[in-house]
Amino acid sequence: ERKKIFTGNSTRVELKNLTKKFGSTTAVENASLEIDSGEFMTLLGPSGCGKTTILSMILGILEPTSGEIAFNGQPINHIDMSKRDIGMVFQNYALFPHMTVFQNIAFGLDMRKVEKEEKKKRVREVIKMVQLDGLEDRFIKDLSGGQQQRVALARAIVIRPRILLLDEPLSNLDAKLRKEMRTQLKKLHRELDITTIYVTHDQEEALSLSTKITVMSKGVIQQIGAPEEIFRRPRNYFVANFIGYGNFLKGKLVDEKNGQFIFETTKDSLRLTVNRDNKHQVGDQVFLTIKPEMLEIVTGEKTGVNLLDGEIVTSDYIGSATGYEVQMENGRTFQVNVPGLNPYAVGQKVKLYLDPAKILIVDEE
Ligand code: ATP
Repeated sequence: ERKKIFTGNSTRVELKNLTKKFGSTTAVENASLEIDSGEFMTLLGPSGCGKTTILSMILGILEPTSGEIAFNGQPINHIDMSKRDIGMVFQNYALFPHMTVFQNIAFGLDMRKVEKEEKKKRVREVIKMVQLDGLEDRFIKDLSGGQQQRVALARAIVIRPRILLLDEPLSNLDAKLRKEMRTQLKKLHRELDITTIYVTHDQEEALSLSTKITVMSKGVIQQIGAPEEIFRRPRNYFVANFIGYGNFLKGKLVDEKNGQFIFETTKDSLRLTVNRDNKHQVGDQVFLTIKPEMLEIVTGEKTGVNLLDGEIVTSDYIGSATGYEVQMENGRTFQVNVPGLNPYAVGQKVKLYLDPAKILIVDEE
């Protein structure tokens, strides 16, 4: 059950055909997105794909070139940013270094002329929430990166915003702290039940935190879905590649029998069998992809479809698994991950087995 602290003000956010141009650069192109009240939506994509531009338009520091933004169905394009009730955490935190933790957190309340006793009460409340107890009177410049990150978060939520925007808030922290803060953020989101829009280029972060993910490339939304859907059923080459699939084969679905497609690569007419899905049909130009850990190395006798002859050309032992590069006679290579110890040697002749049930068919971009 959810412990609702700030009740009754959570907000549904809609972007309708939103476009932002900077001169001849289109930073965001025709983006349409619905973010339900209380959702944790992550905008995921590589640097420069337009994530920050979308946040800035929602925040109100950038004006859309065209399209509409609505909160709970009300267009807000022409509402001043001070009236949008948004809490924002910037990548570099944007704190005041020579002010104390208390003063930084209270800043938004001072701006809103909140009465002194109420202010103290609310600052104390959020300080507890982000576990900064005892540090109220420290100067920002004397805090660690992780502590500063918490101050930035506290400052954003103390105003009881209807929407929380977080722009890569964990990117300045080391790996261990990043994981810790991830857990804390999740907990905080559950407690606050506030519509949250989170920007990151880190797929693991996105999968772990979000209730929904929007994957972007070059200003264009590629896929919107629950984390598991994005992870298991990436729609196209870009999303699959970004989320960690590998071994892409470009070609065409040339035939169909017994619930399976026959696929042929463009480059070297390699024929593979893949289980049918309900999104594709014979004649489609597609990519096949299979994760390195889903590929099997076979050394004994095995007959049937999708067996390829090759040779181990590199081996990379990383403790929990070994990564191999297997090369076919025509030069095509596959990446294979085998759990545990390193059982194969460079130079060894092997067979690769691509299980038709483990291959995914994805569209070109
Ligand atoms: P990052 O993860 O690096 O912050 P991002 O996905 O947030 O990247 P944006 O900052 O939204 O990307 O930028 C999208 C595109 O718009 C980029 O090509 C960027 O160079 C361009 N852009 C952003 N702001 C401006 C601006 N004020 N003037 C001109 N071009 C801009």
